[in-house]
Amino acid sequence: MKFKRIGVLTSGGDAPGMNAAIRAVVRTAIGSGVEEVYGIYGGYKGLIDNDMELLDIRSVSNIISRGGTMLYSARCNEFKTEEGMQRAVQVCKDRGIDGIVAIGGDGTFRGATDLTNRGIPCIGIPATIDNDISSTDYTIGFETAMTTVADLIDKLRDTCESHARCSVVEVMGKYAGDIAINTGIATGAIAVAVREIPFDEEKAIAKIAKARENKKRNIIVIVAEGKTDYAEGFAERIEKATGIETRFTRFGHVQRGGIPTVRDRVTASRMGKAAVVELLNGKSNLVICERKGVITSMDINKALKIDRMFKNLMTDAEYAELEKEGVLEEMRAHCEARAAAKLELYKLSEEICK
Ligand code: ATP
Repeated sequence: MKFKRIGVLTSGGDAPGMNAAIRAVVRTAIGSGVEEVYGIYGGYKGLIDNDMELLDIRSVSNIISRGGTMLYSARCNEFKTEEGMQRAVQVCKDRGIDGIVAIGGDGTFRGATDLTNRGIPCIGIPATIDNDISSTDYTIGFETAMTTVADLIDKLRDTCESHARCSVVEVMGKYAGDIAINTGIATGAIAVAVREIPFDEEKAIAKIAKARENKKRNIIVIVAEGKTDYAEGFAERIEKATGIETRFTRFGHVQRGGIPTVRDRVTASRMGKAAVVELLNGKSNLVICERKGVITSMDINKALKIDRMFKNLMTDAEYAELEKEGVLEEMRAHCEARAAAKLELYKLSEEICK
């Protein structure tokens, strides 16, 4: 099939580097003979509302270094309904859109599958600061967010050092503590608490007390937001148990903005190109992934299942189904390797941050 017109959208939480991905999609598509590329505004909401305009090589100039997304993003519950999806399909048909590149997280990929199943081929690009998409080693925006967090913690550390304080910092990462673990190493945090790895609070408090005995003045503790309602209370308990003045800070949405790092711009460019190449080769329902530094792809349904498996959300019936399909072992091995790599980093932070 000849792709005359394609669409590109960004959906779910925004991430630095999304613009670089849009730029790569537009330029690769036009360079490959696609006649028109529609930039769809506000994710699936824009598709339903027919809110889009044509992008050309020049209209994506000067965005590679910008955070956020020039196409804006939104969450759209209407799209999850059959009626909403049918509206989106009709808009694609009316506009002559032959395929869509959807940039976002796992929710965005579910939407992409739904559209593909209704006759509009879609390819997903993983962009979320949390790095919580288990089919890919890396998601666009992750490094920029970590760099922002490390910079903010460095600043907190200066004042903690001056006042001999402890700071408990909550960072983003609902399902994945990757930001917390990596910035923990990068900033010398004395303790890191994430949802997916058991955390021994007493041991952490003893470590903090010992560090103070050893004359450590600045004490940084990082908690991932996935440990719900934990960080603030933990700060109080540290102060009570050790007598060290302890403050709680939640960085919040500042972590989602900012100038994308080179890593994010390059990965977004590579993934943007790969998405268009796959689409024009007649592929659909794929998520572009980076594994061991190589840009590759995976069927979205499989990627979503791996994700559920990694996050321990899978039911026994789903496990049984995967076993029947003969893919359980391979998927399990993938998740185990990912968990082992994360644990190794976590242990490193425990060992060398004293
Ligand atoms: P992030 O993880 O960074 O928040 P995300 O892509 O997972 O990104 P969501 O809000 O979960 O963010 O999903 C983005 C959009 O994708 C939703 O607003 C909705 O329009 C669409 N979507 C999500 N789940 C589904 C689903 N099950 N079926 C169809 N569309 C969906």
